[in-house]
Amino acid sequence: MNEFDLIAQFFQRPSVFDASLIQGIGDDCAIVQPPQGQQLLVSTDTLVAGRHFPLQTDPYSIGWKAAAVNLSDIAAMGGTAHSLLLAISLPSADADFLQPLSAGLFDLCQQHGVQLIGGDTTRSAVLSLTVTALGFAPNGQAILRSGAQVGDDVIVTGTIGDAAYALHYPHSVLQSRLDRPQPRLHFAQAARGLLHSMLDISDGLTQDLGHILRASGVGAQVDVSRIPHHALLAQLPRAERLALMLQGGDDYELCFSCAPKHWPQLCAIAAETGTPLTRIGHIVAQPLGVQLFEQQQPIQCAQTGFLHF
Ligand code: ADP
Ligand code: MG
Repeated sequence: MNEFDLIAQFFQRPSVFDASLIQGIGDDCAIVQPPQGQQLLVSTDTLVAGRHFPLQTDPYSIGWKAAAVNLSDIAAMGGTAHSLLLAISLPSADADFLQPLSAGLFDLCQQHGVQLIGGDTTRSAVLSLTVTALGFAPNGQAILRSGAQVGDDVIVTGTIGDAAYALHYPHSVLQSRLDRPQPRLHFAQAARGLLHSMLDISDGLTQDLGHILRASGVGAQVDVSRIPHHALLAQLPRAERLALMLQGGDDYELCFSCAPKHWPQLCAIAAETGTPLTRIGHIVAQPLGVQLFEQQQPIQCAQTGFLHF
């Protein structure tokens, strides 16, 4: 199977052209027309076998996750996901591997009305996938990390630490949280008008919330006993549970800040979109950075999550 057969067989599905997609796969570039009054959001992420997912991860999950982590970045801006590009490097053109990999990628794309509009295919010793996601947001309305305001609630979606648990304890019911994260696109789009700052949690809650605080020039007080977690984490010793929730990454839940008065409206959006929400703390002027409390008592904890270097 040569490169072009491979693209045609596994990655080229009939494009649905509309006003926003002028040209899909098959030419030198795709052509995208952002709708009137909207800005283009662009993000890219690489997944390397053995580094971003265990080598034994099933190919369906690899394809799903490569798309999910990128769509999650569009969600983190409050955007509407539009399309993806996939640059894949792989040791061999193995149909038994590529078939489920492309199925995982396309299944998630279909759930969110996203199309694969281009990419690149190369041979290399190590499997790696680089996905670029495109999305739209109304002019000036994407949610940045820098918008947190003193007095805001700090809120997270879903449960935190699930993916880190699955990494440490394989084959539990939380395995799918590591392998097939669900980008919170519906909630983020619907809530966009209410939020001051947002990001998705990829490298650990403390480290990622720290990015919002630094960009906004503020601090946050977080009550660790309020951080939502799965029943399996509740059974762990306290120190281990805190490490998974605070330093574990890969959950792709959203962490955002917004004025407390919007809580009832957020809850209505959460119910409509099936998105659990929990208030875990609030934004303060001083001190800068994350301050952790447990039942009102200050506690110490490492501030870093996953770092590649
Ligand atoms: P070029 O020589 O211009 O780089 P290619 O031969 O690499 O073009 O790709 C041909 C077409 O197939 C292009 O539209 C490209 O975007 C698309 N493509 C290549 N690899 C992939 C892939 N893995 N997934 C999706 N589209 C791909
Ligand atoms: Mg190419």
